[in-house]
Amino acid sequence: MMNHVTTTVAVFGSCNMDLVAYVGTAPKRGETVLGREFHTVPGGKGANQAIAAAKAGAAVRMIGAVGEDEFGAQIRDTLRKSTVDVTGVRTVPGRSGTAHIVVDDEGGNSIVVVPGANATVDGLADGDEELIAGSRSLLLQLEIPLPGVAAAAAAGRRNGVRVVLTPAPAVPLPAEILSNVDLLVPNEHEAAVLAGDDDPHRALAALLELVPEVLITLGARGSLYGNRDGARVEAPSFPVDAVDTTAAGDTFVGVLSAALGEGAEMPEALRLASAGAAVSVQRNGASSSMPTRQEITDFLA
Ligand code: ADP
Repeated sequence: MMNHVTTTVAVFGSCNMDLVAYVGTAPKRGETVLGREFHTVPGGKGANQAIAAAKAGAAVRMIGAVGEDEFGAQIRDTLRKSTVDVTGVRTVPGRSGTAHIVVDDEGGNSIVVVPGANATVDGLADGDEELIAGSRSLLLQLEIPLPGVAAAAAAGRRNGVRVVLTPAPAVPLPAEILSNVDLLVPNEHEAAVLAGDDDPHRALAALLELVPEVLITLGARGSLYGNRDGARVEAPSFPVDAVDTTAAGDTFVGVLSAALGEGAEMPEALRLASAGAAVSVQRNGASSSMPTRQEITDFLA
C-alpha cells in the first residue's frame, strides 16, 4: 500500500446517536427491567463508514444532517476528531437521528431507529455537488430517504466518481439508483433479499445483472467479489475472537474505499478491509472500535 497517496472519499448518508442499554433479558411489552450499563456513541451507517475511511487514511467529507440538539453537536465533534470534513453536515431544526439499542446477555439486540434530521436529507443541498465531484469515491447507504440516495448517486455518476452502495436496510431498490451504482456491497442477508436467492454465488451472479461490480460480505466466512468481466475474488476473514460485530460491514467498506482510492488492486483492498473489520470486531462499540491504518498494518505484520 502506498501510504504517501491520499484519496478523497465522500459519504452521503445518516448520522445517528446510538443510545445503548445493556440488560440481562430484554423487556417484553408492558415490562420494566433494570439495565446494567448505558452509553451513547455516535453511529449511523453514513457516519460509521466516514470514520472508518478516515481512520484508514482517506481524506473524508461527510454530507448529511444532524438536529439542533446536544447529540448533533456530539456527532459533529466525533466526526471532526476522526479528521472527517463536516462542511456538508447541516444542522436542521428538531432532533438528531437516534438508535435506541437494547443488548441482552446473549449478545442479541433489538433496535428502534428514529430518523430525526436524517429524514431531511432527501436531495442535494448547496455545495454537495462540489464535495462529491472533488472525491474519488462516494459511499451511500439506505438510512436516508431514497430520493436523497438517488440524487447523490446521480451526482457521483455525472462527475465520474466511483459510486459504492451498501444496501442496508434491505429495501427494493429503484432502477434510478441502481443505474448509477458502480459497486454494490450487501451483506449475506441483504444479498439474499435483493437477489431472491440464499446462495451467495448465485446471488452474486443475479446482482451483476443490475450493477457492474458486487461484493457480498459473509460475516466470519469472509467476502466474495465479482464483476461483469468475469473476475471473482474470495477473501477469507481473519480468525479472531469476536466480541462485538456491530459495524463490521461499515468498517469493511470504509477501509476498502480508502485502499482502492490509493490504487490498491481488489485482492489487496479486500485483504486490508478484512483485516480492518477483524480488528474492529475484537473491540466493543461501533465507530469507537474502528482501527487506524497503523493498527491494520500492525495486525497484518
Ligand atoms: P455487516 O456488519 O454489514 O452485517 P458482515 O457481518 O458480513 O457485515 O461483516 C463484514 C466483514 O467483516 C466480513 O466480510 C469479514 O471480513 C469481517 N467480519 C465480520 N465478522 C467477523 C468475525 N466474527 N471474525 C472476523 N471477521 C469478521
